[in-house]
Amino acid sequence: MKGLSVKVRITVWITLMMLLLSGAVLVFLMSISRSVTVQTAMTQLTQAVQSNLAYVDVDDGALALDDGFQFYHSGVYTLVYSSTETLLAGQVPVSFTASEPFTNGETRIVDVDGDEYIVLDLWVASGWDNGVWLRGIMELPEQVQTSRNILIMTMIALPLFVFLAALGSYIIIRRAFRPLDNITATVSAINDTSDLTGRIPTPPNRDEFARLTDTFNGMFARLEDAFESEKQFIADASHELRTPVSIIKGACEYAEKYDDTPEERQESISMIHRQADKMSRLISQLLSMTRLEHGTERLSFEQCDLGELVEEVCAEVDCGGARLHVEAEPELTASVDTALLGRLLRNLVENALRYGKPDGDVWVSVSRGQNGEKLLTVRDNGIGIAPEQQEQVWKRFYQVDPSRSENSGSGLGLAMVRQIAQTLGGYMTLESVPDKGSTFTLHLPEKADENKK
Ligand code: ADP
Repeated sequence: MKGLSVKVRITVWITLMMLLLSGAVLVFLMSISRSVTVQTAMTQLTQAVQSNLAYVDVDDGALALDDGFQFYHSGVYTLVYSSTETLLAGQVPVSFTASEPFTNGETRIVDVDGDEYIVLDLWVASGWDNGVWLRGIMELPEQVQTSRNILIMTMIALPLFVFLAALGSYIIIRRAFRPLDNITATVSAINDTSDLTGRIPTPPNRDEFARLTDTFNGMFARLEDAFESEKQFIADASHELRTPVSIIKGACEYAEKYDDTPEERQESISMIHRQADKMSRLISQLLSMTRLEHGTERLSFEQCDLGELVEEVCAEVDCGGARLHVEAEPELTASVDTALLGRLLRNLVENALRYGKPDGDVWVSVSRGQNGEKLLTVRDNGIGIAPEQQEQVWKRFYQVDPSRSENSGSGLGLAMVRQIAQTLGGYMTLESVPDKGSTFTLHLPEKADENKK
């Protein structure tokens, strides 16, 4: 059975079960019908022999049969034998060739060359030591023979019937399994060609296969999306890396040809330096994001005072002319990877300073929210983000205004912030009004440890 397909296995199982069931039903019916027939015949025989009993007279050893005695009635032969078992009256059925010993009062079945007879003997006593035997013989009615014929015919017809049943079930099962074949064909085609646009045709019936098809199609759609965004990511990353490389190459060629004075050369070197720095930042951001995404970044979670951490990070940030205000609820702790949380906070504060008002204000606060959530908020009163762009800014390489890119980052900062928030078991929210300012909040749920990746 192991190497057989599910279709064949189900067909074989159904066939076997049908065979077993029809066999059991047949045997049951046969045995019931036989016992009813035999019982009826025995009653008939007993009644016939007993009714003849009233017409038998044995007087001083002389047998006298009255007029009512019937030698043959309703298939029952009644015979009279002497005490020495010599036939005195009556006709033995021609085919009853057995020499059956006499047993008083016992109705029994006697097999004579394949034909069955029921026999009943009754001893009719006369005096102390004399009497006659009354023997009733009846051939088992046709019905028993018919049952036997049915059995023989069934034995011949059953294989045909089973074959038809097996064929029918196989055809039905094969038709029912056809959607599965479609699923296998489509998945193999996708596998062979790596073309994720393929979809499985939905079966007309809303059955299990239709649900399986929907699930597979949903999975293909998500895979296609993920694949497309990976492709987009690689294209964007290559583009972002190619830009500083081209600038560096151009600056080198220009310097070789036209830079004559040490000042001119110094200017070219500074530009090359800035671009190399930008590239290096981009590469380390990309590596860090990939490690976070694949879960290969080494993390060490420890209880830390969020207020203290915020103070430390803010102290390291170069605010320029802006004012950085820190407000922290005391003794608010959480289990976090401090390096990761520091990176998240630094990104948000740098953005707030970069996109805030020149010489504006940035507020960083640590507080407790609803349901015991710990909130880390960075707010600025800068340019803000338009509502339609508020979901976009979390995407990798997305920049609202790429022309500011000379002093801005690469568009990876917020994507990394969101990823870090997830790694810490929390999530980010953004509220922003253009020209008024933005508020980025990290929510760390009370049971953040359980959500950590
Ligand atoms: P970038 O390296 O360009 O700063 P980010 O991923 O950090 O990339 O931010 C994506 C975009 O979101 C930025 O280009 C900017 O347009 C917008 N943005 C981020 N932070 C703020 C903020 N505090 N105020 C206004 N816009 C912001």
